[in-house]
Amino acid sequence: MIIRNVRILGGEPVDIRLADGMIAEIGQGLDGPESVDGAGAIALPGLVDLHTHLREPGREDAETVQTGTQSAARGGYTAVHAMANTSPVADTAGVVEQVWRLGREFGHCDVHPVGAVTVGLEGRQLAELGAMADSAARVRVFSDDGKCVDDAVLMRRALEYVKAFDGVVAQHAQEPRLTSGAQMNEGVVSGRLGLTGWPAVAEEAVIARDCLLAAHVGSRLHVCHVSTAGSVEILRWAKSKGWNVTAEVTPHHLLLTDDLVEESPVGAYNPIYKVNPPLRTRADVEALRAALADGTIDAVATDHAPHPVEDKETEWSAAAMGMVGLETALSVVQEAMVETGLLDWAGVAERMSVVPARIGRLAGHGQPLQAGSPANITLYDPSVRTKVDPSAFASKSRNTPYEGMTLPGRVVATFLRGRPTVLEGKLV
Ligand SMILES: [Zn+2]
Repeated sequence: MIIRNVRILGGEPVDIRLADGMIAEIGQGLDGPESVDGAGAIALPGLVDLHTHLREPGREDAETVQTGTQSAARGGYTAVHAMANTSPVADTAGVVEQVWRLGREFGHCDVHPVGAVTVGLEGRQLAELGAMADSAARVRVFSDDGKCVDDAVLMRRALEYVKAFDGVVAQHAQEPRLTSGAQMNEGVVSGRLGLTGWPAVAEEAVIARDCLLAAHVGSRLHVCHVSTAGSVEILRWAKSKGWNVTAEVTPHHLLLTDDLVEESPVGAYNPIYKVNPPLRTRADVEALRAALADGTIDAVATDHAPHPVEDKETEWSAAAMGMVGLETALSVVQEAMVETGLLDWAGVAERMSVVPARIGRLAGHGQPLQAGSPANITLYDPSVRTKVDPSAFASKSRNTPYEGMTLPGRVVATFLRGRPTVLEGKLV
């Protein structure tokens, strides 16, 4: 198959020949029996998400491996890491293999299960990290995401343990006592609204401790969904020491602020904006953008968190935390980072494909678009602006904060090892 007239990382138009799941040739005027017209779209290496909640097993009313990976493909993703906070929890070889197999069966994108750090995410006893690493799912990323591994001894042991198989511990940094009952960012808005505040220090203190622990045992730490300017400063310091620490930021933390809880197009106290970690201030957003641009934050990860209507459309304090994000991620990154001149398309490819693949140790993803690479390719048209319509999502859930908002860009096609999973914006 030939993909015609695409601009690799925004460069000059070329044709790409795919054969046997690989990129066979790149050039002008290539000939072949079957072809797809790229119509000048930008070609990126297939996106890789470090942080997706697929909800299966246990909450198939919110999302399944099938619908979640369809949502990923529509967003331009060729691989996702499936978080462990399912029911049962992905804390054994059996559960991670089940999720991995479902991903293979549906084939919309590769599914790499994340293993829980502690049994049942309960923070008491280390899970069978080695058995999950040795399983068919080859788990390399471990996280209790949704909960913080707040016991320093357990965190130290996990960091020591994963060194044996080049794994990484991905921490959801949230000091539990400082955030007991917390509802939104602690600041002037939470004060005015009378909602229990979620202080920045609850995130920053855990990140600082974990950077020190990772350095102490010589292991690899990844920090999930960084949300404050102070966290950025700590990461900058840890990196300046040469420590093996990486971090991610979500698209929503690059665009949205806590003022939306008070005043937004959908009114005040709308739980569509309730998320963990919470939306922060404009100054935090600016610091996160600058950090993603200069590499202090390594990657964009969606934290795609589907919830059924009844869990979101309720009063603020009772509503579930989280937003769907796979199908809007690239558009939000274009809006926050490309339109502002902070990143070019090569920079986007680095932070949404190359680096996340490297952190997750996914050899078949995040490779440069050149002859000999696996044909994992996303075609993206940045020139259009469209109104976000959640009813068009492939995700089973609709809890997007961007409904009705006009965002730039559109995923035109996604190829997984040479096979289209999305063409003309539609699932194949
Ligand atoms: Zn989390």
